[in-house]
Amino acid sequence: MKDKKHLSVSAIENGTVIDHIPAQNLFKVITILGLDKIPNQITFGTNLESKLLGKKAIVKIADKYFERDEINRIAIVAPHAKLNIIKNYEVAEKMLVEVPDQISGIVKCVNPKCITNAEDVTPKFKVVDKENVSLKCHYCEKITDQEHMQYL
Ligand SMILES: [Zn+2]
Repeated sequence: MKDKKHLSVSAIENGTVIDHIPAQNLFKVITILGLDKIPNQITFGTNLESKLLGKKAIVKIADKYFERDEINRIAIVAPHAKLNIIKNYEVAEKMLVEVPDQISGIVKCVNPKCITNAEDVTPKFKVVDKENVSLKCHYCEKITDQEHMQYL
């Protein structure tokens, strides 16, 4: 893969570019946004140099715009992600991801005895640390940190 930064991923006419994804979390972002299940044209580049992140990834999704709620779901794996909304090959709008106060239905509770792991209960968390992203379970109050996160 070329590492010429911007050149490695081609331009799109309309759609969304998600930049500043930590390279190791690229596929988590794809899963969380359900990009593996949509018919849109998607290009991505990974292990690109980034001053902020070391190695970053970038995803371009043609003909797709996201809702705020939808995009904030990726904040847990890419808290510094930046979105460019592209219209007619130009950046029409920029958006930053915001780590929400609460999340549900994305991450599994770390506690194997938690009701959410034993029964058909959707996990729900309070975000207790927005910088490093750690989550406190609504049911068992155990903390799930970034290192132990498993995705539904
Ligand atoms: Zn729990």
